[in-house]
Amino acid sequence: MTDENCLFCRIARHEIPVELLYEDGHTLAFLDIHPRAKGHTLVISKTHSKNISDLPEGEIAPLFLTVRQIATLIRERLEADGLTLGINDGSVSGQEVDHLHVHIMPRFEGDGGGSIQAVVNNPPHEFVSEVRMKIKK
Ligand code: AMP
Ligand code: ZN
Repeated sequence: MTDENCLFCRIARHEIPVELLYEDGHTLAFLDIHPRAKGHTLVISKTHSKNISDLPEGEIAPLFLTVRQIATLIRERLEADGLTLGINDGSVSGQEVDHLHVHIMPRFEGDGGGSIQAVVNNPPHEFVSEVRMKIKK
């Protein structure tokens, strides 16, 4: 499933050049054009989906296998001290490209970055146990 006008579908169709790191039948990994760290990488499925809930079940494993493979490669080749992996899911979270993508951002001692939890500070007014009851089937 591909979307004619989607930027990342166009990249997957090789209509727009990128610094490609990896490609297989299901996925692509390429360097972010505005890197927040050396080796900042995006991993996408070739199947168009806006978010994690829309991605067909059969595409989940291929996507995250590529994430693991490329994360490992980046850690080794760039001698990163760690990695931050993340998905902006929905415009409220900062998603600008409406094609699901996983950010891999290499982390280095003293890079000034924070933890992924620090992107939001909106603790609930309900008990955690109450929230659990809302989520759990
Ligand atoms: P997000 O805010 O999660 O939607 O992030 C979208 C990311 O895509 C940003 O980090 C952009 O720098 C990156 N990006 C946008 N266009 C391109 C492109 N043509 N090639 C590589 N990365 C891109
Ligand atoms: Zn797309």
